[in-house]
Amino acid sequence: MDTNTPLEHIDDWEDDLVKRYPEPFKKQKEDYRNYNDSPRDDLVRNFYKINHQNQTYEFVIAKQNEYFNLDKRKMSPWDALDYLNTLVDDSDPDIELDQLQHLLQTAEAIRQDGHPDWFILTGLLHDLGKVLCLYGEPQWAVVGDTYPVGCKFSDKIVYSEFFAENPDFSDQRYNTKFGVYYENCGLENVKMSWGHDEYLYHVLKDYLPKPALYIIRYHSFYAQHREEAYAHLMNEEDHKNFEWVKKFNPYDLYSKVPIPPDAKNLRPYYENLIDKYLPKELLF
Ligand code: FE
Ligand code: FE
Repeated sequence: MDTNTPLEHIDDWEDDLVKRYPEPFKKQKEDYRNYNDSPRDDLVRNFYKINHQNQTYEFVIAKQNEYFNLDKRKMSPWDALDYLNTLVDDSDPDIELDQLQHLLQTAEAIRQDGHPDWFILTGLLHDLGKVLCLYGEPQWAVVGDTYPVGCKFSDKIVYSEFFAENPDFSDQRYNTKFGVYYENCGLENVKMSWGHDEYLYHVLKDYLPKPALYIIRYHSFYAQHREEAYAHLMNEEDHKNFEWVKKFNPYDLYSKVPIPPDAKNLRPYYENLIDKYLPKELLF
């Protein structure tokens, strides 16, 4: 197995999330695909093993230096969505929804509940950072739960036992409760493991309201928004905005239904929404 692609499909970790955090009051198997196939479980486990071994403080700094100049591509927001959609499933294309469909389903579910338009737009954009895959980044540096690096890894992080193989685990600079940070320093000052959340935040940080940016930047940070394991690094503003991250999470996890949304009909509405908030071209 290639360590760059431990998962058959990039979204297998999200399917696994639904298993870890089932929708309340719903019978899982009837509404979603059957996730209880152990070969897939093994792949997800192996995926996290590689992720946890490799996401070090230094690795994150190296990726930030590589990507924060935003000199990879220039695309209109909709072209970026189309580009992301070239990331197609090669394992079972009949069952899987493509990337755009997940984004549209998330956004539509938010829209149906009557939320503000920036929240709907956030649903549409939140996984755009997965274009990292198309730049050749390994899966473990694009998807999966994210968590702070530079301080002790919480045992609330999924498969936390694999951190024993991360060099930072035995590095005194990084393995104490606060590590390179200080109490309630604010997440703004905390480096997160590298993936699609942090990258897209940097692409969009000048254009969206603060709660939208929190959703984009921390939607995979399950150890906090689900497990509350890092409150000691957060400040007031973080806590306030995490209410939105929590509000967003069910739309991300539970809006996946096998009926593809009608992308063609929905497009004009979303083009308008994009125009309201974003420039004609975005730097990636
Ligand atoms: Fe995501
Ligand atoms: Fe998502």
